[in-house]
Amino acid sequence: MANSFDVIVIGAGPGGYMAAIRAAQLGLSTACIDEWKNEKGGPAPGGTCTNVGCIPSKALLQSSENFDQAGHHFADHGIGLSNLSIDIKKMLGRKDTVVKQNNDGILYLFKKNKVAFFHGRGSFSKAVEGGYEINIVGAKPETLIGKQIIVATGSSPRALPGTAFDETSVLSNDGALRIPAVPKTLGVIGAGVIGLEMGSVWRRLGAKVTVLEALPAFLGAVDQQVAAEAQKVFTKQGLDIQLGVKIGKVESGKKGVTVSYVDAKGADQELACEKLIVSIGRVPNTTGLNGEAVGLKLDERGFVEVDAECRTGLPGVWAIGDVVRGPMLAHKAEEEGVAVAERIVGQHGHVDFNTVPWVIYTSPEIAWVGQTEQQLKAAGKAYRVGTFPFMANGRARALGDTTGLVKFIADTKTDEVLGVHIIGPMASELIAEAVVAMEFKASSEDIARICHAHPSLSEATKEAALAVDKRALNF
Ligand SMILES: Cc1cc2nc3c(=O)[nH]c(=O)nc-3n(C[C@H](O)[C@H](O)[C@H](O)COP(=O)(O)OP(=O)(O)OC[C@H]3O[C@@H](n4cnc5c(N)ncnc54)[C@H](O)[C@@H]3O)c2cc1C
Repeated sequence: MANSFDVIVIGAGPGGYMAAIRAAQLGLSTACIDEWKNEKGGPAPGGTCTNVGCIPSKALLQSSENFDQAGHHFADHGIGLSNLSIDIKKMLGRKDTVVKQNNDGILYLFKKNKVAFFHGRGSFSKAVEGGYEINIVGAKPETLIGKQIIVATGSSPRALPGTAFDETSVLSNDGALRIPAVPKTLGVIGAGVIGLEMGSVWRRLGAKVTVLEALPAFLGAVDQQVAAEAQKVFTKQGLDIQLGVKIGKVESGKKGVTVSYVDAKGADQELACEKLIVSIGRVPNTTGLNGEAVGLKLDERGFVEVDAECRTGLPGVWAIGDVVRGPMLAHKAEEEGVAVAERIVGQHGHVDFNTVPWVIYTSPEIAWVGQTEQQLKAAGKAYRVGTFPFMANGRARALGDTTGLVKFIADTKTDEVLGVHIIGPMASELIAEAVVAMEFKASSEDIARICHAHPSLSEATKEAALAVDKRALNF
C-alpha cells in the first residue's frame, strides 16, 4: 500500500521546502521529494539556491570582498598588512560549510514540522481516485499518493547552443563557484545578475575579467540612471564590459577557451581566456517529471503553465518558483510556495510581482522594487523623482563607501511610491524599507516624515523621499 499524503511537494528548493513547511504548519500531512545529492551522495535539500546559487555565491562574494578590502581599503584606516594572500581551497571549503549548514537546517526544519522527506527523483505515475500517484527513484524507491501535488522542480543553467558545460573550462554557475585557483583571465558571457556576481568574485581575487553581452544596453531591466552608474563603477573597478556583441564559435582546449564574436561595431573579435562562465539564462526543470502521464501542460518556453495563483490546468496540481513564469528569484519561489499551501486550505495567499525586490550583490550592491523610470515613461504615467547620493550620507563616509545613490519615484498626483532604486552600500538591506512602503501604499511624504536613526545608511532613503518634494536637507 502506497504512503498517502494530503500534499506532496516535488523539489526542495526555496519554493518547495517553504511550501512543505507551511502546508505542514496548516495541519496537512506533507511529503517533500528532492533529488539533489551532496558529495557523499546524501540528501542536500535547498535546491539551486542553497547548493549552487544564492548562498554559495554570497559566501564567495563576502570572502572576495574581504580580500579586496584588505588589499585596497584597509590602508585608509591606518591598517597595514604585509604579504596579503588568499587560500582558495580554504575559501571554497568555507563556502561548502555554509552550504552544508543550510542543507542541515532544512532537514532539521522538516523534522520539526513533521514533513516526510524522500531523497530521490519524483515523477508522476498516474491520476488516481482523489489524487495522483508519484514514483520516487532513488536509494530507496517508493510510491506515494498525494491529494495535492506542488511541482517545485526549479531550473538549470542554459548552455550556449553547441557548447556544453564541461565545468572545467566552460562553466555554469556550478563550476563558477568552485574554480580551484584564480584564473589569470576569465570570460563571462551574459551581463545579468549571475554573470556580474561571479565576474566580481574572481575579479576581486585577481582575474582579468571580460564580460560579453548580446544586448546593446547594460542591465536593461534596471532603472537607467542606476544602470549607467553601475556600468561606470564596474568599468572603473576593472571589469571589461562589452555590449551588443554577437557570440560565434566557442572552442576549448588545454590552454583554455577562445570565444569568437562580432563586436557592436561589426568587427570580428576573439577573446582568449583561461575559464569561461556562461550565464545566459536558465531553463525550467521538467524532464524526468513525467508530466505527460497526467497531462501537465507546459507553455511555449517549456515552463509549467499556471494561472496567477499557481494552479496548473490539472485539479489539485500546482507549480511554483523557477519552473513557472515570473522572476527567477528565491524569495518569489518562497512566497508562491507559502501562498499555494494557504490556498490549499482555503486561505487567500497573495504574491504581488510588483513588490518583489530585486538585488544584485555586486559592490556596490544594486537593489530595486517597483517601476523604473523607463517603464513609467512608456506607460505615460506622471511621476516625480527624488535622488540622494551616498556621498552626502555621514554613515557612508564613515564606512568609506560613498558610491551610488537612492532614487525614489512617486506618483505626481497621489505621491504614492511607484519605485525605489538603490545602488550603494547595503542596498540589499535598505530595499526592505521600500518594499514595506510600497506594500502599505505609502507616499514619499510618509517615508520623508519617518524618524530614521542617525547616522545610518537608511537616512539616504529618507532624504531621497524628501528630495521628491525638492526638500532634501543634507544635499
Ligand atoms: C549563481 C546563482 C545565484 C543566485 N542568487 C540569487 C540571489 O541572491 N537571490 C535570489 O533571490 N535568487 C538567486 N538565484 C536564483 C535562485 O537560486 C532561484 O530563483 C531559486 O533557487 C528557485 O527556487 P525553486 O525552489 O523554484 O527551484 P530550485 O532552487 O532550482 O530547486 C528545485 C529543486 O528540485 C529538485 N528537483 C528537480 N526535479 C526533481 C524531481 N523530478 N524530483 C525530485 N527533485 C527534483 C532539484 O534538484 C532542486 O533541488 C541565484 C541563482 C544562481 C544560479
